[in-house]
Amino acid sequence: AAVIVAIDGPAGTGKSSTSRSVATQLGLSYLDTGAQYRAITWWMISNGIDVQDSAAVATAADKPVIVSGTDASNPTITVDGVDASGPIRTQEVTARVSAVSAVPEVRTVITELQRSIAAGAGNGIVVEGRDIGTTVLPDADLKVFLTASPEARAARRSGELKGKEATDLAATREALIKRDAIDSGRKTSPLAKAADAVEVDTTDLTLQQVIECVVTLVEE
Ligand code: C5P
Repeated sequence: AAVIVAIDGPAGTGKSSTSRSVATQLGLSYLDTGAQYRAITWWMISNGIDVQDSAAVATAADKPVIVSGTDASNPTITVDGVDASGPIRTQEVTARVSAVSAVPEVRTVITELQRSIAAGAGNGIVVEGRDIGTTVLPDADLKVFLTASPEARAARRSGELKGKEATDLAATREALIKRDAIDSGRKTSPLAKAADAVEVDTTDLTLQQVIECVVTLVEE
């Protein structure tokens, strides 16, 4: 049967790198749900919608056509047919994505999309996000919740940003904590650990160790 793996947790815990590697090693499809929320946010900004105006965001939620490629070795995302993989990683999108993803109509549209992608992955899929184990795929075969100290998360994130849009560690830490607070505090499917999820604290683990740990859990 197609195995479904849900990997949730806050930013900077190594979710994306872990999920992609696990999917590649096990021959599963891969879905980055954060990229979808980033894509809808980019579309809102590009279309002049004030992301703080939740009524305007709600009205437009079903307008953009978001298509996610599920090949773990080459994840792609397009919005209305345009490659969005670069623009969704800018600081502007990162700073606004939590406001957009807190709007219930946005979550309804994106959650439906995620469920249809998971249902269509005949070989099984690794889905990473914030609410996959709790809301999107509550019947997943394995649920993993990754955590790490705020210091470790900020250090990893600023390492990723190096060369692109370098910011200092303190600013990165502030931005991460702010985003997590909004993601954890929203009323509709907040960032949360499912009751039946396995929690893995990655603070003192290498990426390789986290990957091995999750692969072992899938194979158990
Ligand atoms: O994983 P990433 O950091 O790219 O996620 C970007 C944002 O998308 C999160 O901060 C959160 O606001 C939103 N998100 C969400 N639910 C998910 C995945 C991401 O609300 N399942």
